[in-house]
Amino acid sequence: MNKITNAERRAKASHYIEQPQTSIADKISILLAGFQLTDVLSSKSHSEDFNDTRSNFIQGRLKLMVFVFAILVPLSFSIDLVLLEEAQLQSMFYLRIALAVALITLALFIKKNTTPITLKYLLPTGFLLPIIFYVFTQIVFSNQTQEVNIAGYNFMPYLMVAMLALFPLTIIHSLTILTLIFIPFLAVEIFLDQLLTFTTLNKVWAFIMFSGVTLWLQTGQLVMLMKLYRESTLDPLTGLINRRVLMKRLEKEITAQREFYIFIFDLDKFKRINDTYGHLDGDLVLKTMAEVIKNEMRVNDVIARFGGEEFVAVMSGLDKQNALMIAERIRATCQQTTITNKDGIAIKVTTSIGITRHQMKDSLEETFNRADELLYQAKSTGRNKVVYG
Ligand code: GH3
Ligand code: MG
Ligand code: MG
Repeated sequence: MNKITNAERRAKASHYIEQPQTSIADKISILLAGFQLTDVLSSKSHSEDFNDTRSNFIQGRLKLMVFVFAILVPLSFSIDLVLLEEAQLQSMFYLRIALAVALITLALFIKKNTTPITLKYLLPTGFLLPIIFYVFTQIVFSNQTQEVNIAGYNFMPYLMVAMLALFPLTIIHSLTILTLIFIPFLAVEIFLDQLLTFTTLNKVWAFIMFSGVTLWLQTGQLVMLMKLYRESTLDPLTGLINRRVLMKRLEKEITAQREFYIFIFDLDKFKRINDTYGHLDGDLVLKTMAEVIKNEMRVNDVIARFGGEEFVAVMSGLDKQNALMIAERIRATCQQTTITNKDGIAIKVTTSIGITRHQMKDSLEETFNRADELLYQAKSTGRNKVVYG
């Protein structure tokens, strides 16, 4: 009898048992609810649609934040009347008016259809304006004979850091804004000639603590948003986008006045596969076919699970000949694919395809009806074929 060493036994077992996750990257991924560190670091790996969703979220919150500030800033002048000396009152009045006007102007730029890129600049501005105000108030206060030690004035930088936690930002974006807040904050300390004092050290320490908590909260929000986004837009079985996202994408294409081809795939006699092999094998077939179709397409093509055993692909930048060739290739690959279930039984399935071109004069509904009609023709004339119209 052959003796198996422990190492061999472990190696053998590892084929069947999922390895415990041990690397640092894996540990971070667990903390991030299964997301990669790159997902929260920058938006490079985010899809255009997710960026739009996140921007909508940020836009709403930013607008509210800016408006609340714009109202509170002039109102707080009543506090100045009680606390400030006569000589400072006028400067503070003008400062407050200037900030309120700047904030309202900013609010006018924040619209529902603001692009993620524009928002990337508007958001830091929303933080920069109050911090510039803070710098000026500190200059004004330095002229007072009595020290002004009022939380409302001195805590402005910390308040800004705390407000930043309202937004689901990536770490790099957030660090940029934190730096933008930190520089004027430090400049004030230099201006007051107290940079190398215990007071400033204390302030910087507090600033860093607040920033850390903000980053933590933001990452949590971002991960949560991504999780919800994935759950509501991706089909859990095939990993393809669902019908809702597809329609959203198509509406965008139509607004941009772009033409494209629509391919509707419907697996043939799929009910019979479920009836013969069971639902689990049916699922396996669906999953495999989704992969087969996806693999035959270019990276920028869109493919969605449209419903049950139907898939829809959207391709642009090709002519009729190309479209037919791609469809025919996918049809043939599906036919050649053999799916082996866990009992080793080979399952085969074919697909029928309807293709049509969306022209600028058509509505989305017309295009889909036409594609459906063509698919029906493919079905009624024998299945496992491509019909173009
Ligand atoms: P045809 O060639 O005319 O398209 O026939 P068909 O049997 O494919 O069409 P029909 O619309 O009658 O049946 C589709 C079947 O797809 C019925 C449904 O049970 C099955 N189906 C839909 N979604 C899923 C799924 O997520 N998993 C599994 N296993 N089956 C599904
Ligand atoms: Mg069907
Ligand atoms: Mg079918």
